[in-house]
Amino acid sequence: MNGSLAPHAGAPRAEIRVDLSAVTHNVAVLRSAAPDALMMTVVKADGYGHGMSEVATAARRGGADWLGVAVLEEAMALRAAGDTGPILTWLSVPGEDHAPAVAAAVDVAAYSVAQLDEIAGAAARTGVQARVHLKVDTGLSRGGAGAEDWPGLVAAAASREADGEIRVAGVWSHLACADQPDHPANDLQEARFRTACETARRAGLDPELCHLANSAATLLRPRAHFDLVRCGIASYGLTPSPESASSAELGLRPAMTVTSRLAVVKQIAAGEGVSYGHQFVAEEEMWVGVVPVGYGDGVPRHASGTAEVQVGGRRRRILGRVCMDQLVVEVDPGSEVGDPVVLFGGDHPDHTDAPSAQDWAEACGTISYEIVTRIGGRMTRRHVDAPGATR
Ligand SMILES: *Cc1c(COP(=O)(O)O)cnc(C)c1O
Repeated sequence: MNGSLAPHAGAPRAEIRVDLSAVTHNVAVLRSAAPDALMMTVVKADGYGHGMSEVATAARRGGADWLGVAVLEEAMALRAAGDTGPILTWLSVPGEDHAPAVAAAVDVAAYSVAQLDEIAGAAARTGVQARVHLKVDTGLSRGGAGAEDWPGLVAAAASREADGEIRVAGVWSHLACADQPDHPANDLQEARFRTACETARRAGLDPELCHLANSAATLLRPRAHFDLVRCGIASYGLTPSPESASSAELGLRPAMTVTSRLAVVKQIAAGEGVSYGHQFVAEEEMWVGVVPVGYGDGVPRHASGTAEVQVGGRRRRILGRVCMDQLVVEVDPGSEVGDPVVLFGGDHPDHTDAPSAQDWAEACGTISYEIVTRIGGRMTRRHVDAPGATR
């Protein structure tokens, strides 16, 4: 039962392996899907869990003209890591200091006149003109100026621009339903966006970058490409619209593989319950293995009794509840402590037929974005750059 540890000695308890050559490849694929637009690779939230600065470097290599992040600290971290190219950050709260970002030549976003004033103030203090992207809400009802406030925002921006404190470099918005290409909200948002860009130009602004598309619109809605596309999830090799096309059909390579190894292997008798609450009860004598990862490592508890892992070359459903530090799966008789387990995989040849992050998302009732972004906790993360990367 407790076999030798030797074959796996030194292998980590749980590891997130990120193939940077896959990111480079995916960015190049996305670029060819939007040949007339600039490419922004979105690396917020630690690169969707893949490692922000490593992904940024791989994305630049694949042709990313821009990097996009949500918050100011992320932009500053990219600068600190040595990235000198164009970066846009788009989410701040009142009172946040834009000065370091402006001084570091990071483009910032304004949703309101109050925010514009804060940015203009930061520009005045640093003596550097701020490059601003004005956000219009075309139907997501999240950030951005609504239709009533838009004319006032562009007028205020035109006056600050005349004063020299800011330069309106962009006008942008975000789609609500791009993953459903036939959803009527897409046409409506796109039409409203065209009108908003027109309103900005009539107010005397001359933004060089109008941008609307996320990954889904980049791949599925060429009319929405405008001057620049903002690609997050597809850059990591995951389909933005599983109902429309799989990663493979889109030519994308999933970059993340999460592996662990069996910490315990044992036989249990018929009638024994497994894990908290005994949601699973063995119908007959069986072998089980303990995988030393749980919700403390970002494995969703919603995976209980539903998601599958690959162990001993087979897919095995999680038995009963995912715990904080561990989960239990059925294993083949004779399996040994230390045997490798794949939770979900990239397209590594060792892991063909392993579940994908998309499979996990479907099992857990969520989207692949959440699976890869939340995984982590106590796992180690390792970046590899397979030879033969697309350049
Ligand atoms: C996260 C984000 C994106 C990227 O979206 P994907 O669906 O991952 O491509 C683009 N734009 C904005 C404003 C975002 O917040």
